Amino acid sequence: MNDVRHGPGPVDTTHGPVPDEALDALVTVLDEIRLGHSRSRSALVTRTGLGRAIVAQRVGELIERGLVTEGDVGPSTGGRPPRQLTFRADAGHILVADLGATSIDVAVTTLDGRILGHHDEPARIEDGPDACLDRVDVLFDAVLRTTQAIPGRLWGIGIAVPGPVEFSTGRPISPPIMPGWDGYPIRERFAGRYDAPVWVDNDVNVLALGEWRSGVAAGHENVVVIKIGTGIGAGIISDGRLHRGAQGSAGDVGHIQVTDDPSVTCRCGNVGCLEALAGGAAIGRSGEVAAREGRSARLQTALDQHGTVTAQDVARAASYGDPVAVALLQAAGHRVGSMLASVVNFFNPSLIVLGGGVANSPDQLLAAIRETVYRRSLPLATRDLLIQRSSLGGLAGVIGASSMVVDQLVSRDAIGRWIAAGDPAGAPELALVRAG
Ligand SMILES: [Zn+2]
Repeated sequence: MNDVRHGPGPVDTTHGPVPDEALDALVTVLDEIRLGHSRSRSALVTRTGLGRAIVAQRVGELIERGLVTEGDVGPSTGGRPPRQLTFRADAGHILVADLGATSIDVAVTTLDGRILGHHDEPARIEDGPDACLDRVDVLFDAVLRTTQAIPGRLWGIGIAVPGPVEFSTGRPISPPIMPGWDGYPIRERFAGRYDAPVWVDNDVNVLALGEWRSGVAAGHENVVVIKIGTGIGAGIISDGRLHRGAQGSAGDVGHIQVTDDPSVTCRCGNVGCLEALAGGAAIGRSGEVAAREGRSARLQTALDQHGTVTAQDVARAASYGDPVAVALLQAAGHRVGSMLASVVNFFNPSLIVLGGGVANSPDQLLAAIRETVYRRSLPLATRDLLIQRSSLGGLAGVIGASSMVVDQLVSRDAIGRWIAAGDPAGAPELALVRAG
């Protein structure tokens, strides 16, 4: 976007800007409180290594600026019970949209990712950016209109799309399943309309953030979140941070080559990709072939009803014990598991989370993935390795997109540019600051 505002924003007369040298400690203290790691000044001193006086000053500043409150009395450890410090998650709200290959989820959330209003519906990402993002506008309006008691002003917008995104610019780059989206300025489109900072990421990264903040991955420092939907991708939490890589394409495991077979063509233009063998679209296609060849009565029923067979049809048939459907899920599970075994040897996560529509399928897929990962990875890497399903189901994406926005807003570089104004509402240029 060229319409970048320069110079200071509107300055709150009660609080001046925070001096640069004080920002590091301020951000550290705010993160500790916001992420629930520290709830008292003494916990902050212990956990951050900051001095008692510095902690007291920064906490005072955060309370004065309305970002932290000192509320309920915490558990007493003898003597005067400490009052709990909490992030003021209702100081503003976030709008998020999680676009999948075949769905749109929108939500309005508090600043800690609590969903206040939510709507999801089928959609086709291949209809292109104008159709899809016009629909997001309509759904944003609807969810804002129908949600009661939305707190504060709009602090920011988070958008997730099912393809590689250059995180610094918020643009999809050569996304294989998103015709018409290459280089599309998603950020600028929403920033102009809503006058708010906008961040865009791929759907798997926000899924990983959601599970890490509010789901099954909470408390883990090294996690791989695999999304098996229409395609296959991975989000990586490394040493307690989302790892996006140099450009933002880390974790694109769906296009790792797993066979030389030239007949396995992938939508990315290559042959032999994992996604072309084991993604949801591939599972559906194999199910359709089985139905047409008369090998599965259940899949044939699905074909007769909808004229096609989807991965969901295969999953449903497998849950009834259909042997062809079970074999298809097991074969996909072994393929995904084999790739994951390499990832485990390379990255040594403590947890693998399976998310996405296909991952919600019956146990056969999960069992095949587990069996292959434990058999093919090094013993040290699998000794304490957990492999679990996503715990947030379809909501992990919107929760994660909300976390992405707030993480960026309170980053060292961004917060210094809005804290004097009281909140980041009406400052779309904040998204142009690259958080470290
Ligand atoms: Zn591919």
